[in-house]
Amino acid sequence: ATNCDGIIAKAPPAPSPLRMSKFTTAKMRILVTGGAGFIGSHLVDRLMESGTNEVIVADNFFSGSKDNLKRWIGHPNFELIRHDVTETLLVEVDQIYHLACPASPIFYKYNPVKTIKTNVMGTLNMLGLAKRVGARILLTSTSEVYGDPLEHPQTEEYWGNVNPIGVRSCYDEGKRVAETLMFDYHRQHGIEIRVARIFNTYGPRMNIDDGRVVSNFIAQALRGEVMTVQAPGTQTRSFCYVSDMVDGLFRLMNGDNTGPINLGNPGEFTMLELAESVKKLIEPSATYRIVENTPDDPRKRKPDISKAIKLLGWQPKITLQEGLPLMAADFRERLKNFKSSEQP
Ligand code: NAD
Ligand code: UDP
Ligand code: UDP
Repeated sequence: ATNCDGIIAKAPPAPSPLRMSKFTTAKMRILVTGGAGFIGSHLVDRLMESGTNEVIVADNFFSGSKDNLKRWIGHPNFELIRHDVTETLLVEVDQIYHLACPASPIFYKYNPVKTIKTNVMGTLNMLGLAKRVGARILLTSTSEVYGDPLEHPQTEEYWGNVNPIGVRSCYDEGKRVAETLMFDYHRQHGIEIRVARIFNTYGPRMNIDDGRVVSNFIAQALRGEVMTVQAPGTQTRSFCYVSDMVDGLFRLMNGDNTGPINLGNPGEFTMLELAESVKKLIEPSATYRIVENTPDDPRKRKPDISKAIKLLGWQPKITLQEGLPLMAADFRERLKNFKSSEQP
């Protein structure tokens, strides 16, 4: 096979009996790394609810939790393995959704060297696994590969503006190397790859103290705390509701395009507008103040999703106005339980 760069790719491994199942209606066995996390656990719900899959989750629980998967524990089609993807993993699967990696800046900056290892060694191991068993593998890359973008909105052709030595680099550059590894395994070994560039995603089950902006504002508003808008507050982000994201990942995995493909909601908001929306939709008594920001914070971000619309027939359905109350309902419930479990 000749790939897009005109390089002769090695023939992919012959389909194993397991992989043959992809072409029949038989069960597929699917590995989800990072499946105990926010997006991963919603993806697991979707894969399990189809009723035709076996799902294996490998997670080290650094930022995820068993609680997110409690409805599947004990189900005959479900397995949960405590595993760190920087170590070798031996399982037999047809598809790999490779999500394992902390996504919130406070989590990925906590141990930056480990974040790089997770992105580089973790992705290498999952590609080695995909090569051995002939599985298709999808990487959840990120809009952070565009860094502090000089083009707006960002298309997949843009190469980005990333600081290689900053405090966010472990994540941004880690994901950039992970993408490189994906394409090198594809060109060199004929591995079937899919690369999604995910833009800010929010929804129920986000870690309450995760540190990302939507979860912070909602938790602060519900706890009667002041919302912390990091300076200047005019920086923008585009927020995608988690069910839309899971649908995009599923379509990408099961379609014919390698990507990279932007997945995100093109609605663009400043952080001040987000604080105003939380106040209006969730807690009218909420207040906010401007606080200090962290270095290298991208000033604007908005996906160009023309490729996803054309190639995957995908675009987000849930607006921020619809999604924020859905997330707040989940946060209210969890904060209530949190409080009552604190009672003596
Ligand atoms: P999350 O932190 O909730 O989930 C990540 C999961 O990976 C957690 O369960 C964590 O315990 C696990 N993990 C971390 N390091 C690991 C390791 N070394 N071995 C095994 N498991 C490990 O984050 P999320 O928001 O669900 O993000 C999932 C994926 O999507 C990540 O790859 C992230 O980079 C990507 N992404 C997310 C967003 C977003 O806005 N949520 C945006 C861009 C990209
Ligand atoms: N690997 C894995 N599971 C497997 C096969 C490989 O975790 O089922 C890991 C393996 O530990 C190795 C990495 O994937 O470090 C890359 O494997 P590959 O075969 O591509 O490279 P090599 O082992 O030849 O360096
Ligand atoms: N932010 C904020 N208040 C917070 C947390 C974040 O104003 O309590 C801002 C942050 O400065 C950034 C944006 O919200 O401009 C998105 O931050 P987040 O950590 O959610 O995701 P990022 O896109 O930076 O990875």
